[in-house]
Order: sequence, then structure tokens, then C-alpha cells
Amino acid sequence: MIIDRLQRPLGSLRVSVTDRCNLRCQYCMPERDYVWLPKQSILTFEEITRLVGVFASLGVAKVRLTGGEPLLRHDLPRLTAMLAPMEGVRDLAMTTNGLLLAKQAAPLRQAGLGRVTVSLDTLRPKRMQDLARSDRHVDVLAGIAAARAAGFPLKLNTVVIRGVNDDELVDLIEFARAHDAEVRFIEYMDVGGATGWSAEQVFSQREILEVVSVRYGPIAPVTAGDLSAPAERFRLPDGATFGIVASTTAPFCRSCDRSRLTADGTWFLCLYAERGTDLREPLRRGAGDAELADLITATWRGRTDRGAEERLGLANRAPLFQVEGLRADPHREMHTRGG
Ligand code: SAM
Repeated sequence: MIIDRLQRPLGSLRVSVTDRCNLRCQYCMPERDYVWLPKQSILTFEEITRLVGVFASLGVAKVRLTGGEPLLRHDLPRLTAMLAPMEGVRDLAMTTNGLLLAKQAAPLRQAGLGRVTVSLDTLRPKRMQDLARSDRHVDVLAGIAAARAAGFPLKLNTVVIRGVNDDELVDLIEFARAHDAEVRFIEYMDVGGATGWSAEQVFSQREILEVVSVRYGPIAPVTAGDLSAPAERFRLPDGATFGIVASTTAPFCRSCDRSRLTADGTWFLCLYAERGTDLREPLRRGAGDAELADLITATWRGRTDRGAEERLGLANRAPLFQVEGLRADPHREMHTRGG
């Protein structure tokens, strides 16, 4: 096990397979146009597999495919089939907006994908148009149904924004219950790309718990489980569970074992990190697994990142980057780092 300077293990890896997305969520990709990663810099499936193999040999047991929108990457079941049997990888999951999931759910399941998380910020199609500039709500619902039919354990991710969708918490809990899924409410984060972020729009964990308890009665924390997981889980009096990812008001940097590999092979140790480590260069230069493992090990051992906790301490909290800064380096974007 490789430990960083704050005693945190290198445990889970989010692999962004593309920086492209087919939604324009106002909290992530609000601009009209973007600077994309150059095509020739995007890692092939073989290159991704090679790097994930090195990470797995160093103790990474949890791998999550993300993006951008991962299902925009052609033939994702092929990559899934390459990663699923890998020694050391115990948990292979994917986060998707669901638009293209209906057709892909069964092939992905067959290829060995273990779990799926679908982002679902609203149950109202008109609201999705305003929030994400898309009229394809029906496709997301079809994707969720297909994921269940394919046998995936399913989570739903909802970014809660004051005045936008904070009136849908109970509806989303009931929707999740009806679909045998668990919803996780995510606090609005001031990450790269969230240029419209303001502290007033953050609907906090405390407020979420208040709203939910008014409807259902006393809520109990679920204590057992994975302590490095970002979501705190809660149980309603009737037994249903839900999660809250309180990265903005109650960050959990101290237990964070996550790092992120962008589609062009840049490795980030924190969502808020200023820069990442280029793994594509040594990979394409012909470095062996031992050299890659040494680079990854040395980088992780020096990790001190506590990005979300440091943001919490800021007096006048504002978006991490303005548009010009994001255009200057698209690696700063949440949709490039992989959510
Ligand atoms: N396209 C996929 C999807 O929509 O799930 C995967 C990538 S997306 C960047 C991953 C997750 O990041 C989503 O659940 C999204 O809601 C979350 N996210 C993006 N921007 C965020 C922000 N400013 N605050 C909180 N969560 C955010």
C-alpha cells in the first residue's frame, strides 16, 4: 500500500475517457464553447489499460470510468472488458449522464462493469432544458431503466442548487426508491468550470437533512461501510437510504484516497489541484512498468493536497477559475479532470 504524507492510501482512480460531453450543465459546462484536449493526445484503450494496470499493481482497487461523458467514447464495452479482469481491480464502476445508456447498459454489464451511477438533477424535463440545455430527459430515464434491467447496482447523483432544484429532494428519494437505486445529493462545488458558482447557491448538507426530516421524520446516519467513500449515508425511518456528498461545507480530505487520470494521461491528486503529473509522456516514450510505478509512487508519497478543506477556509469564496484561466488550460475544467 502506498501512503501519502497525510497517511492516505492510493486507493481509487477515476479515469476520464473523454473531455467531451453531450450536456451543458450550468454548474459544470456553462459556456458556449470550449477548448478541447488535442485528439492525438487522447490515450488509446491500450494506453489506459497499461496505466490502470500499473495503478492496480500499486494498490488501486477501485476504478471509475468518467468524463466528460464516458459513453461518448466509441466502444466503451471494449475498454471495460480490458479492465474488468485486471488483477487487483475489485470494483469497476462508471459515472454517466445516462443519455446514451439505454443501448449500452447490457453490453457494458456483459463486459464486466460492476456498478453505474447516473447523474439526475431533476425529474422535470423542462427544468433539465434550463439546467443542462437538453431536451433528452426521456433518454436519461430510459438509461436508468436499462441499467436496472441489465442488473447493475445503481446510484443517482444530484447536484443540489438553491433556487434551481432544491424543491425536488423528496421526489428524487421516492424516484430512487421506486427504481431500486440510492440517490446521493451533492453540494454545489466551486470547482474549475463552475464559473457561475456562488456561496449563496450552495444548498448545504444541513439544509438537505432538514428538508428530508420534515417530510420523513428522524434520519439516522449509516455508520458501517467504506470510510473513504465521499458520500455520508443516511437512513429514513422507513428504511430507505440516501447519501450526501458535502464536499463544499464539510469536506472529507482526510480520508480521500482518490486521484484522477484525464483522457490525455495527466494525473491529478485532487480536484482542486493546480497542476497534474504527465503520465502520457513517459508512456509514449516507452517507459517500462517499473519506471511508471516509480513515478506514481514518488508523486503519491509527496501528496499533501487538501483542496476542499483549504477552500473552506477562504474568507471570500469564489469560483476556482474564471473563463480565461480555463481557456488557457482546459486541464483545469471539471469535465476534463473527471467528476
Ligand atoms: N458526464 C458524466 C455525468 O454527468 O455523470 C460524468 C462526468 S460529471 C463531471 C461527474 C459528476 O460531477 C456528475 O455527477 C456531476 O453532477 C458532478 N459535478 C460536476 N460539476 C459539479 C459541481 N460544480 N459541483 C458538484 N458536482 C459537480
